[in-house]
Amino acid sequence: MTSVVRTLPIRLVPLPGEALDSWLAALAHRSAVDLRGILTAAGPSLSSSSGLAPDYTTYLADEEAERLSWATGVPARRLHAMTLRQYDGLALALMAQRRLVQRFTLWGRSIGSRSCPQCLAEQDGRWPLRWRLTWSMACTRHRVLLAHTCATCGARPHSRSSLASRIHPRNCSARKPSGGSDLGASGVFCGADLIEAAVLALTPDSPVLAAQEWIDDLLTQAEGEAAGNRLRSVFGDLAVVASRVLLRAEPGDFQLYGQKIDQARVAYGNDWRYAPVDAAVLAGPLTRAVEIVRDYSSDASLTTARMLADRDAAATNKPTIDRVRGRTRIGSSGLEGLF
Ligand SMILES: [Zn+2]
Ligand SMILES: [Zn+2]
Repeated sequence: MTSVVRTLPIRLVPLPGEALDSWLAALAHRSAVDLRGILTAAGPSLSSSSGLAPDYTTYLADEEAERLSWATGVPARRLHAMTLRQYDGLALALMAQRRLVQRFTLWGRSIGSRSCPQCLAEQDGRWPLRWRLTWSMACTRHRVLLAHTCATCGARPHSRSSLASRIHPRNCSARKPSGGSDLGASGVFCGADLIEAAVLALTPDSPVLAAQEWIDDLLTQAEGEAAGNRLRSVFGDLAVVASRVLLRAEPGDFQLYGQKIDQARVAYGNDWRYAPVDAAVLAGPLTRAVEIVRDYSSDASLTTARMLADRDAAATNKPTIDRVRGRTRIGSSGLEGLF
């Protein structure tokens, strides 16, 4: 290992909960090299001929973690905790060898990361790993829905990174459309400051924030040592119930959470197969799902279940939930009874 891996002269301590690509970009920026300069220092298996860095934030193999650890001085165990691997089988399902998140299972989110602009401003542009998850829709600290695109170019931030990128993680690293001669200060990359992304403010008593706090507790458990099958069941239930709520949603269903959240869902439609990328679309179905999964025997849950059953019956003679369940099984017996 030591014959191909060299230690980097500049060290940078990862922030608690930081995503691997955020830390790598910050390290490259501080070292005044491009991302290739960091990754090739960690050995041949970390280099790429495609021009794009492999998505190590989704999955880092054990040997890759050892090499990167040697080069950077950060323990391999810590590096693994900066990837989605820790949520595999609990809050998402990976196709590990391809470094992909399965979209059909647990409503997986495949590329890019949401963000809270105020958090980015306060943390000098460093990105928490959780923002990559379907389950992160709001920042409970700043009481906003998370952004999902760059306000300048429309790209989804923190998709695959270019090896030639020297962009600071708070700036958009999406490539500009080809053919342009304006290389600007940030070269061929967009470079927009992502702390300027537009977000939707939530009121302090917003049910969306309460739902996010409940989910955040689950994610904290998932990141712990003793996470088990119960968590997988809970996230499975959330995926099934949220997708069914979205499938049968009608205008006005989510007015309680805010007019713009209801309008965003109406504009999006009822496509339940994949988790909505836009947090404003996701917020209604997911918040409703949390309310049901938290207490499936409450009056509100029973009312929602009856309403969904009525809408199913009106839409088709064949219960659609069977098809939804085919992708993600309901885990808890109480919900089986409810649906
Ligand atoms: Zn925030
Ligand atoms: Zn951009």
